[in-house]
This record gives sequence, C-alpha cells and structure tokens, in this order.
Amino acid sequence: MFKDIIAQNKAKAIISEQIKNNKIPHAYIFMGEDGIGKNTTALEFAKILNCTINDYTKTDIGACNHCIACEQINKRSYPDLHIINFEKQAEILEEDLDKQKTLKIDIIRYMQKKVYMKSAEGRWKVFILEPAEKMTTAAANCLLKTLEEPPENTIIILVAKHKETIPITIASRSQTVFFQPLPSNEIASYLQQQHSLSSENAVKIANMSDGSIEKAEMLMLNTQNEYSSLWTELTGRKLAAADILSKSKQISKDRKSVMEAIDIMTESAVKNFRREPDKYTDIIEKLLESKKYLNQNINPNTVLDDLFIYINSKIK
Ligand SMILES: [Zn+2]
Repeated sequence: MFKDIIAQNKAKAIISEQIKNNKIPHAYIFMGEDGIGKNTTALEFAKILNCTINDYTKTDIGACNHCIACEQINKRSYPDLHIINFEKQAEILEEDLDKQKTLKIDIIRYMQKKVYMKSAEGRWKVFILEPAEKMTTAAANCLLKTLEEPPENTIIILVAKHKETIPITIASRSQTVFFQPLPSNEIASYLQQQHSLSSENAVKIANMSDGSIEKAEMLMLNTQNEYSSLWTELTGRKLAAADILSKSKQISKDRKSVMEAIDIMTESAVKNFRREPDKYTDIIEKLLESKKYLNQNINPNTVLDDLFIYINSKIK
C-alpha cells in the first residue's frame, strides 16, 4: 500500500495498519509542511478504499490505479470524493479565488450536506479539507458536529500545516498523522527520475527545497526559466557588450550555476540546430568547449563572459 508515496514510512505504516484491520477512523488530520505528500497520500487513501479491482478487505497490495474508480480519483472526478478548499469555496460563494483567506462556515455547511447525502457509488465517501488551519472558529465549531456524529463509510481528512491552529475539540476527535520533510536524497532522485535533471543539479535543488517536492519543482522551473530567457535574449538580437557582461556576472555566482546554465543553453541550442544547422553548429561547439574549460577549473565568470559574447556575436 502507498508504494508510490515518497518516504513518510511512519505515516504510511499507521494508515496501512488501520486499513488492514478495517479500523478506519472517521477523521484524520494530515499534518506537515506543504509539498511533502499529504494530499497525494489522502488521494491514494481514497483509491485504496474505493478501488474496484483490489478490495482492501481482501488484499493489502493497495489500489490498482487503473480501474474506473482509481482513474476518476486521479482526475478528482469521482462522485464520492469531495475536495473542500479555497477553489471550491470561491466557486460556491461565487467570489474571486484570491479573496479566499479563510475557510468559512458556508463551505463547511456545503460539505455537511454532502456528508449526509447517500453515497453515489455505495462505497466510501472521502472528504479532503485543506488548509484546515485556515478554518474560522465558526467553521470549526460547525465541523465539530459532523465529527461527533459521523455517518458510516465516510472519512474526513483534514490537511493542515500547523497543529496549534486546529481547535483541540477537533484534534481530539481525529487521528493526527504527522508527515515529515522529505530527505534531500529522496527529492534529488525524484527530480532525476521525473524531470531528467542531472544528478548534480538535482542534488543542488534538493538541498534548497526544505524537504518539499513542491518547492523543489518551483525552484527547478524558476532556474530553467531564468536560463532559457537569457538564451532567448542572447540569440534574439545584438546586445551591448556591457549588457552581456552584466548578464554573465548575474549567474556566475558559482561553478555549478554556470554549469547548469550551459546545460540548459545547450539543450536550447540543439533544438535550434534542427532548424538552422549552419548558425548553431559553432555555438554548440563553443558551449561544449566552455563546459570543458569549467571542468578545468578556469574562472566561471571568464568562461561565461567569453561564451556569451561569442553567442551574441553570431547574431546578425
Ligand atoms: Zn483501482
């Protein structure tokens, strides 16, 4: 069970035991930082309970991930899966999404109607409420009534970042499961597998990610965007030498960043090469040569100055 969830062995063990023994609490609090697997685990939980191929009361291998129920849960369209969050609240209240700062009593009342409605598929109804720490006091008090008299085969998963902001009355009626920041090596191997990053870049980003996949992916995209737009500028039009040198200086902070910039630019150059082989042959050679210089411990800023001026000189 939960084999696709990265790390979080303790959390997975607690929930798996409860599923195996068919002693599933009505309410959980999945607690921990953003981007470490709380929502993914909640969705996986919904799949395990509702999978039509692998019945959790008979096998502990977990959800099949391809039956209709699993597929609908993956697409968040399963009729008995209800995700209660700011997006849903904006939709219900017909307000802008960026106006949603707290989860209000209205969305809890909406949720309660769904809680007491008959299940559409006749199996488990799963509610995922996030960010639970943003419930107003009125909303939390309203939710409490449901936690006191929960209907059968219904599970409410509150997803929260901080424990302190969850009222004790709610916490005492829920099973709290703590999620830990992910180890850097797990994030690095995820980035290598899912986004084909080099091991060096993956480790570098993982070390800055505070144990969060979400943050790691954001950092990765930001860096890639920065270097790709630099490439577009350098190959787009003639630039003044002073501009080129100042761009080079910005990213010459360390050898690794320069290496990463060169890798991303090489990828772009190879794409351009297919359209304009004559123009880009020399540029690709220069990129490879620059990489060689970097490995020979030549000052990264010098290598990059020379490279950028060369690339821009090829632009007519
Ligand atoms: Zn399935």
